[in-house]
Amino acid sequence: MILVWVDLAGPEPDMMSLEALTFARGIGDSVEAVVVAGEDVASRLGAFGVGTVHAVSDDLLADFAPAAWAQCVVDIMDSLLPEAVLAGGSDRGNEVMAHVAAKTGLAFAANCVEVETGDDYVVTRMRWGGSLLEEARLSGATKLLTVAPHSLAPEEAPAPTDPIVNQVTPVIAEEDLRVRVTGREAPEGGVSLADARVVVGGGRGVGSAEGFRILDDLAALLGGTVGVSRAVTSLGWRPHAEQVGQTGTRIAPDLYIACGISGAIQHIVGCKAAKKILAINTDPDAPILAHADYAVIGDLHAVVPAIAEGIKRALAT
Ligand code: FAD
Repeated sequence: MILVWVDLAGPEPDMMSLEALTFARGIGDSVEAVVVAGEDVASRLGAFGVGTVHAVSDDLLADFAPAAWAQCVVDIMDSLLPEAVLAGGSDRGNEVMAHVAAKTGLAFAANCVEVETGDDYVVTRMRWGGSLLEEARLSGATKLLTVAPHSLAPEEAPAPTDPIVNQVTPVIAEEDLRVRVTGREAPEGGVSLADARVVVGGGRGVGSAEGFRILDDLAALLGGTVGVSRAVTSLGWRPHAEQVGQTGTRIAPDLYIACGISGAIQHIVGCKAAKKILAINTDPDAPILAHADYAVIGDLHAVVPAIAEGIKRALAT
């Protein structure tokens, strides 16, 4: 049996957990899930072939508490002895699984894209921000792994299940609650970078913090949001929360408009799951063009307002 730790995005399982469930069905015949504060998602998990949902509820665990959430996974592992425990390769998924590994002494492989099962697993996993694939042998009574973000599309099971819901009331030690989310401040603006259908990206080529006004305008017109390169956050033009890439957010919009971004590998790993990429760059040899579906070679300060004007004209007719 494969156990999957499912994280939530609001009231729904998050996309990377659905990817992990899809991946799990390729490894084992039977898949169970553990979810904290999410018994309402049981039928959604049934669509992904989950036979049993272990629903953990405790007021202290209602928001992210990595060590305590990991302890819940460990307790369930102790009684079920799964062949493997999987999670989505989000920051939270990797953090919870790292705690599971530390608590159990088991080996953990992060960011896997392929698994060959056996007494040991042979896993192929992304390293160095996706710039190389490593083949590794994973041993242990239970294998721990996370699935590289967006390395496969989430797919519902051919035959959905009506999962059994097993209510779990955990016993949590004080020390496991040292790190937990106790409050949240919502960023201004409505669309989150990770979920936006359109992202207008800005790099060093934007030239200044003020230069982003035209990108903000275009993003608002398209119902999207702005993402930036690390050059931009390092210069202090925009906050780190907007950074796309290896050390920022990984995005999967329908359209990514990369303005004045050269296309360094650390940036590309964050945006390569976009369905379409439009690059706007003055340099016809910029590396981003190798990844782009469409390109405009030109000054973004002229091109971006021209696109915005065209959209406004189209909306007015
Ligand atoms: P540049 O490389 O300077 O490119 C600017 C581009 O703008 C050029 O292509 C230029 O032709 C174009 N341009 C200039 N003026 C105009 C104009 N007027 N109109 C149109 N185009 C114009 N980077 C990330 O983005 N995200 C990460 O998460 C990340 N993590 C990293 C982690 C590590 C460990 C390391 C070592 C680096 C990381 N980086 C990351 C940095 C990365 O290597 C690049 O340095 C960075 O992405 C470059 O940002 P840029 O494309 O904005 O700037």
